[in-house]
Amino acid sequence: MNVIYPLAVPKGRRLCCEVCEAPAERVCAACTVTYYCGVVHQKADWDSIHEKICQLLIPLRTSMPFYNSEEERQHGLQQLQQRQYLIEFCYTVAQKYLFEGKHEDAVPAALQSLRFRVNLYGLSSIELVPAYLLLAEASLGLGRIVQAEEYLFQAQWTVLKSTDCSNATHSLLHRNLGLLCIAKKNYEEARYHLANDIYFASCAFGTEDIRTSGGYFHLANIFYDLKKLDLADTLYTKVSEIWHAYLNNHYQVLSQAHIQQMDLLGKLFENDTGLDEAQEAEAIRILTSILNIRESTSDKAPLKTIFVLKILVMLYYLMMNSSKAQEYGMRALSLAKEQQLDVHEQSTIQELLSLISTEDHRIT
Ligand SMILES: [Zn+2]
Ligand SMILES: [Zn+2]
Repeated sequence: MNVIYPLAVPKGRRLCCEVCEAPAERVCAACTVTYYCGVVHQKADWDSIHEKICQLLIPLRTSMPFYNSEEERQHGLQQLQQRQYLIEFCYTVAQKYLFEGKHEDAVPAALQSLRFRVNLYGLSSIELVPAYLLLAEASLGLGRIVQAEEYLFQAQWTVLKSTDCSNATHSLLHRNLGLLCIAKKNYEEARYHLANDIYFASCAFGTEDIRTSGGYFHLANIFYDLKKLDLADTLYTKVSEIWHAYLNNHYQVLSQAHIQQMDLLGKLFENDTGLDEAQEAEAIRILTSILNIRESTSDKAPLKTIFVLKILVMLYYLMMNSSKAQEYGMRALSLAKEQQLDVHEQSTIQELLSLISTEDHRIT
């Protein structure tokens, strides 16, 4: 076979494996513009991201024979918009896998996001940093610490050279450096990075924003591991309160709409968390892991457990998963009865439950 190396012959780029850039032996039969070294990488890419974007890649990777420059200009513009869309799409898919703990699946999607970014912005752009951070986090999850360090080094270096790095990107960089330090059991340095993460996220979004809560959560986990339970407890409460405020807001709007019968057009209400898929996965991960910790002290502090259960009820209700919402609601109710909590606490849970069940009847 006539092997074409990617750097020597730029036009031959498409003949390298999508995942590892080795010379390609196979092509995706559905789009015929994506190549692989073998069936293993083809399947990995398909399961992660390719199935979702296969057809979208065709117009990006085929040049069309245009005869006038206006058509060519239009095609170029469409390609640009498509690339910008795919950068965000692949990023969200990879992020979602990471929050679900599926690190292996996240890699091809993250690589794809990186590739589109390089394509659009060049090799030294600050726009590459979010993709490096995804790859670092996935590597860390797979126990590949050296590889994670390499991606983080590239991210850090890009940030250093850049003059226009946003607070949000600074925050993400520090969060990932913090996670690396945690993996290396260097808690002192991890705390420094997470404090910076919280600082930059607060500058970008405010101290009480869900995007700031991730930093508090990881910091809480460090204190929990170090058996500094009071500090951990305070931070877990803070994280819970941030998510409660956010979800309760959406929940109130929706339940008010129900009460006032605002659906004059007879349509079903669209439940909406206002979160993208990755953020929903993050919410589930953070809240269920706090729940596990709270449940270990349910007999002493049942209200803390109930508080997290109620947040999960709202989250799943807004995600239109009413069976999950009901399950958490029932758990909250039986804990409240078991611990003989006051009537008010029990009735607020019952209210939540009855709203979910009326919703159920509407749909069926
Ligand atoms: Zn490969
Ligand atoms: Zn394909």
